[in-house]
This record gives sequence, structure tokens and C-alpha cells, in this order.
Amino acid sequence: MSEKETAYQKCINPDCGAEFDRGQPLFKCPECGELLDACYDWNRVEVPEKLSDFAKRWATRSNRLDFSGVWRFRELLNFCEDKYKISIGEGQTILQKNDSVAKYVDMKPGCLFLQYEGLNPSGSFKDNGMTAAFSHAIMVGATSCACASTGNTSASVALYAQSCGIKCTVFIGSGRIAFGKLSQAMDYGAQTIQILGDFDDCMKQVQSVCTELGLYLLNSLNPFRLEGQKTIMFRIIEALGWEVPDWIVVPGGNLGNSSAFGKAFFELKQLGLINKIPRLAIINATGADTLTDMVNNKKLAWNNGKVNQQIIDDFYADLTRRSFSPHTCASAIEISRPVNLKKCLRAIDVCKGVVRAVTDAEILDAKAVIGKYGLGCEPASAATIAGLKHLRTEGIIGSDERVACVLTGHPLKDPNVTVNYHKDKLGIFSNPPIEAPNDLDAIIKLIK
Ligand SMILES: *Cc1c(COP(=O)(O)O)cnc(C)c1O
Ligand SMILES: [Zn+2]
Repeated sequence: MSEKETAYQKCINPDCGAEFDRGQPLFKCPECGELLDACYDWNRVEVPEKLSDFAKRWATRSNRLDFSGVWRFRELLNFCEDKYKISIGEGQTILQKNDSVAKYVDMKPGCLFLQYEGLNPSGSFKDNGMTAAFSHAIMVGATSCACASTGNTSASVALYAQSCGIKCTVFIGSGRIAFGKLSQAMDYGAQTIQILGDFDDCMKQVQSVCTELGLYLLNSLNPFRLEGQKTIMFRIIEALGWEVPDWIVVPGGNLGNSSAFGKAFFELKQLGLINKIPRLAIINATGADTLTDMVNNKKLAWNNGKVNQQIIDDFYADLTRRSFSPHTCASAIEISRPVNLKKCLRAIDVCKGVVRAVTDAEILDAKAVIGKYGLGCEPASAATIAGLKHLRTEGIIGSDERVACVLTGHPLKDPNVTVNYHKDKLGIFSNPPIEAPNDLDAIIKLIK
């Protein structure tokens, strides 16, 4: 690296710690193969004195960057010049206090908040990350990009690629993708490649393809993508009147979000912009519970960056030996080799995190409750409420603590799961359609 810039990339492995220019498109440390962080020399960044200073951006929201729910916090992800920044209006999401859902998880009124990231342009939180990653892609002059996806990544990548005129190829596992998401990738004009395999297979292939062909990679291995996802936390704090909640609950798939949230809070604390770090609860599905098993049973931990690699290697070797393929109705978290595992362990360390796994039946009931009393969400998002219910029962989260659950995707992403739940009476909140003869009296009788 030549003369040190304000923003740069750094390997998360403390034994390596190699640093790289921000303009190098990398997704792994070329020295040791570990994950990379986007880092800043905070002494040279003009950061507001207090978080509430960001509120003044509302007055200038006719400026496209001030309007963006990501870029209005741009001083906290200061890795590229404004001229490269792309925005399609991401991050206009809301934090809703929801007392009915609070009741379902036995919490006091006024304590539970739902962060609806489904309100993003492509219908999931992924847009927070893509606006950042695509700005970086433009900065480095990328003309062609790729991603592996359980669905929402491809939808978001396809939309942003189309908006900035970059060619895009998305890899999906065959038969695993929810229809809403597949429809978006095709509609936004992405070249869609369906691999005979699951997400983990796609993830492996796309890394090789990107290396071979020099394509820009948009999975959450991309450190700049995670910078954008930090802003979900900034908006939760903003919506709480610039106060930090006690808990953040998030579904865990490839573990990009949980990693980004941990980094966000670490940096805010370091900058003196918050005085406490909230705790983090990461929720897996039982059919894709690598993180839960490794953390709770195998005691895998960050350990100042000296992660016990043997535990991970043994775990994955066992998955391979059993030809294990993850399975859950929450397709967005149907992942058994999460690429951000180590960053997530770091986030758990920073936020005194806990990890739980919930069954598909619990996810489906929780999803129905979020639909019945809130704006709805896709199955993976509902794992948060199902997980929160566990943590309340165990007494780990108190009934009067302030909890924000990140609802990661829009309900229309996966209508099949919703229709089947209601029509086939799969849970306690099923609300199936009632068949009626084509006869007025009979119909009126049904309604009464
Ligand atoms: C991508 C995705 C997840 C998983 O997030 P990670 O950052 O990969 O852990 C969860 N829910 C939805 C709706 C998603 O699209
Ligand atoms: Zn390294």
C-alpha cells in the first residue's frame, strides 16, 4: 500500500493484519485468505459530534444522498467520494412499536420494535449493502459483477446493476429460491444461472468464477457491502430518538448482517457517539444451525481473533461426509457454511451476543403473528420473533427491555409459504379461505 489513505482494507486475522488500498476489489486477504474489513483513520474523518447531528439531513433531503437512508450517515462509511455514490432511494424503512406482537412474546407494551427492511426498493435489507458495494464497484471501474444467492441478494444485485449499467450474473441453487425473488432477478435483466446444488455450492462456484473472469463479487464477503448494512442500526437508533435499544434480534444466514451490526456498534462506541452497546441475538433455523451448534455446543468463540479453526474444519468435514444439505422454509437463511462466521463471532464478542435456533413451525407461527398485527415479512425475518419468544421463556431477555427485531424481507417475497400455511392449516394462526356456493343466502349465512 502506498501513502496511507483515510479508508483502507484490513485483514481481520490479528496474526496477519495485512492492509490493502480501498481501490483494490478483494473479497479475501491475498496473504492469508481471511475476511477483510473496511477501515478508517477516524482522526482524519469529519464525524458529527453527536449522532443527533445527522437529523439535520432531513431538511436537505432533496439532495439524493441526504434522502438515502444509507448515505445520510455517509461520514460513518467514508470509503468513496460522493461522485461515485449510487442511490435508488434505499433505506426509507421504519421502526414500528408493536404491542400486539410484544404480547405474543410476553413483553410489556412499548418495549418491542420491528424494523421493516422489506420497505427497501428491492424488498429486502440487501439494498443497504448493495448501494455501498455498487458505489465501490463504480469507484474501481467494474463493468461486470456476480453473486451467489438464496434469492434476495440476486434481486438486489440485479436492480442496482441495472441502475448503474453494470453487467450482472447471479447464481442460484436449483429449486431453492422463493418465486418473488426469482421473478425480480429475471425482470431486472440479470443473467440467471441455476446450479444443480444448494446455496453453499453456488457460493463456492461464484468465488472461482469471479477470480477466473475478474468479475466484481457482491456477496457479503465484500467488505464494502457490510458498511452499508451498518446503517440499519443507525436508523434504529435514530427512530428511538437517538437512543440505543437493549437488544437487537436478527436472523442469521451468511451472517453478514450480524457482522455489520457488531462493527457498527463497535465503531460508534469507539467514536464516543453511543455510551452503551446493545446485546445481539442471532437466530438460525434448526435445519441450518451451523452457528448455533458451533457457538453453543462446540464453544467456538472470537477469542481475540484466535478462532479455533480445527472446530470449524471438523464441523464442515462432517457436513461433507454426511452430504448434508440445509433445509428450512426460511430459504434466505438456508445456509450451512456461513462465509462471515468469524466476523460474526467478533460481533458476538462485542455485543455479548447469544445464538438460538428455531423450528420451521415456530417461524411460520411467528410470521403469521407479524402479518396479523404488523406489516408482515418473509419467513426468514420471522425467525427473529420466534427466537425472541425462546429468549423470553428462558428469561435471557426481560419483559421490559427494549428490543428491536430486524424484519429483513417483504411478505410478498415468498407468497407460497404464506398461502400454504393458511390454506393447509399448518399452524395456530392459519386463516384459510372459506368455500361458498354461488348463492347469496348461503354467502350471507357464512358472513354472519
Ligand atoms: C440475506 C437474508 C438473510 C440472511 O442475512 P445474512 O446477513 O446472510 O445473515 C435473512 N433474511 C433475509 C430476508 C435475507 O434476504
Ligand atoms: Zn490476512
